[in-house]
Amino acid sequence: MQYSVVGFPRIGAQRELKFTVEKYFRNEINTDELLQTTAKLRAKQWKLQQTAGAAFIPSNDFSLYDGMLDTSFMLNAIPQRYLDLNLDDTAAYFAMARGYQGHHGDVKATAMKKWFNTNYHYMVPELDDTTNILLRSDHFLDGFHQAQSLGINTKPVIIGPFTFLKLASFTGHKNIADYVDSIKTAYNNILKSCATNKVDWLQIDEPYLVMDLTANDIALFTDMYQFILEKKGTVKVLLQTYFGDVRDCCRQLYNLQFDGIGLDFLEGKETTRLTTNFPDDKILFAGLINGKNIWRCNYNSVLSQLKNLKAHCRKIILSTSCSLLHVPYTVTNEPQLAPEITRCFSFAYEKLEELREICRLTELPDYQNDPAYQQNCQLFQSTELRIDKTVQEKVAALTNDDFTRAMPRKKRQALQRKILNLPLLPTTTIGSFPQTKAVKQNRSQYRHGVINETQYRSTAKHFIKDCIKFQEEIGLDVLVHGEFERDDMVEFFGENLKGYVFTTNAWVQSYGTRGLKPPIIFGDIKREKSITTDYIKYAASLTDKDVKGMLTGPVTILNWSFPREDISTREMMYQIGLAIREEVLELEQAGIRIIQIDEAALREKLPLRHADWHSDYLDFAIKAFRLCHAKVKPTTQIHTHMCYSEFEDIIPEIDAMDADVITFEASRSKLTILTALQNNHFETEVGPGVYDIHSPRVPSVTEIEAAIHLMLQKIPQENLWINPDCGLKTRGKTETAASLKNLVQAAKNVRTQLTKGDKNL
Ligand code: GLN
Ligand code: ZN
Repeated sequence: MQYSVVGFPRIGAQRELKFTVEKYFRNEINTDELLQTTAKLRAKQWKLQQTAGAAFIPSNDFSLYDGMLDTSFMLNAIPQRYLDLNLDDTAAYFAMARGYQGHHGDVKATAMKKWFNTNYHYMVPELDDTTNILLRSDHFLDGFHQAQSLGINTKPVIIGPFTFLKLASFTGHKNIADYVDSIKTAYNNILKSCATNKVDWLQIDEPYLVMDLTANDIALFTDMYQFILEKKGTVKVLLQTYFGDVRDCCRQLYNLQFDGIGLDFLEGKETTRLTTNFPDDKILFAGLINGKNIWRCNYNSVLSQLKNLKAHCRKIILSTSCSLLHVPYTVTNEPQLAPEITRCFSFAYEKLEELREICRLTELPDYQNDPAYQQNCQLFQSTELRIDKTVQEKVAALTNDDFTRAMPRKKRQALQRKILNLPLLPTTTIGSFPQTKAVKQNRSQYRHGVINETQYRSTAKHFIKDCIKFQEEIGLDVLVHGEFERDDMVEFFGENLKGYVFTTNAWVQSYGTRGLKPPIIFGDIKREKSITTDYIKYAASLTDKDVKGMLTGPVTILNWSFPREDISTREMMYQIGLAIREEVLELEQAGIRIIQIDEAALREKLPLRHADWHSDYLDFAIKAFRLCHAKVKPTTQIHTHMCYSEFEDIIPEIDAMDADVITFEASRSKLTILTALQNNHFETEVGPGVYDIHSPRVPSVTEIEAAIHLMLQKIPQENLWINPDCGLKTRGKTETAASLKNLVQAAKNVRTQLTKGDKNL
């Protein structure tokens, strides 16, 4: 048995890519130096895979910024405004990636979106009426040639035309159909070029095939590949899919002239079933090793799956379920973690070992006696470290009452209005205030042991005091403490909950030069100590106004962590929900009357297929949120926040979270969401952001007033809150002060207009 790697991480085990590219951004190195350093990085990774015995080593899985952007470049899909800058190719590429401001001009970056259900972001291809798709260059073979010069045979990897077009945005009058002919020719030329350069295997990634496909989609896919594959000559083509199964187009896919098909057995619920009639003339690249999660794989289960597959598939190559881009480099970078913990982990390097080991074991008639096999079996038997019976019992004992607030929302809301005594159009913020140097320094000094906990907390409280004073001065109605104790809204809670493990070097690319270090849910989650109450209580003691308690919700905490595989998502969400509930009740006990539970990441993990939305996610995600607040008094007002307004298709579910107020990002979108809220008789009070915090621009009073008026056309005035669209932590102090003053003024102006208007009636 041989094995294949769909893609390898590219940022470098020490984040070399990030540091090199950033040097290039700062003009500290030139293009040649940038390309030399990255070439070295690639060489190292190929050698590593070669040594680990990989038979199919990817090239062109590397990217200076993003693979989709590389594809746009390769296909000449470069919007005119970037060409007009008259930059060299590399500079133009980065102009598309991050915008350009300099003596060549001033343009914004192209849009960025989440790559399917991962936390990786790709640059959205932008096609306008002048776009002329063609194979612009053979750069996609640079890696292949470089590896060849090192004596390493690789399979170049490219994103396929179907996925490319389906994910593109069309900014002119043309649509997909108008680009089909030219893209077919371009891919034909790619294959020709591969043949000329003696490429053995070409991997074409078509992850879009795992989405819900229409008959038109399938026809498009089939038509394109019939044409493209006609001229493939000596080149063997591997069609690679991941993040799900190909149930909608399986028949057509099997009939096309591909030499290999890569399927995901981890996320593809129906993949096993779909392989029972796998065609004899093709090789199955069986994605049985999880490319997305960080746990050791269970040899026994993979070996038995392989055995079953052999009954239907003539030739099988073992593979990862998707690119290893989504996992960190190596567990050996985490020497601070106890061996009992790290032995459960498998990052990219370790996954290569696993692939090799499994291939070796398949050759042994009595692999059950192999020490490596036995050691692996043991891993899945010993779990004491991860189990907390009391937590599991609590989850098992949950009943309907734990998810249901005693008083229906409308009644509650009326009561809350009376008790909280807020003005019409109450003003508030989303939680964080600018993280100045001093704020960050306080945290880093504490982290590095320069100051002790008492010193740290007392400095944090100074910031809180200033923040409260400032909010009172400018006249906001509902105040916040400012979140000066948090780097990150998930990490902060993870660090304060038992069951979490944190890494120091386990970076995963989020986009371009940005990395994330997702915390790992290792065991059952439990709250053992108070997390935020001390700070919130302190903030509340400084003012007569209400201060919002500020928490992160269970769905977001889970979605931005590496989850366990030995228990269900539902179980994990409920465990975290129970922990957050304890904090909520403690805040309420401390006299806090408004509590916000952020769910910034709720929408993004909606399953790729519509049929799975409820059963695999919403049914328990919404309940996990309700679990956090079901037990509070009717008078306690629960807020939630989401960083997007694209929830038009799940409005009833968002309403079913049963929060009293929701704030969300709406300033950049065209407020179409408001119509949808109206049509759905949305009950939750709403604060659609009245200005965009992602830019340092200060919105004027008139502008904000106009936004409020627009909102009032769709939202009953007693249901409308006035707030920015997200937390202010990335903003400077000056622009924040100016913007918030204008926000308060605008709210006051509209209030006056409304009351006058009422009198006139
Ligand atoms: N309360 C958080 C903040 O204000 C929310 C962050 C977010 O939505 N991403 O920073
Ligand atoms: Zn937000």
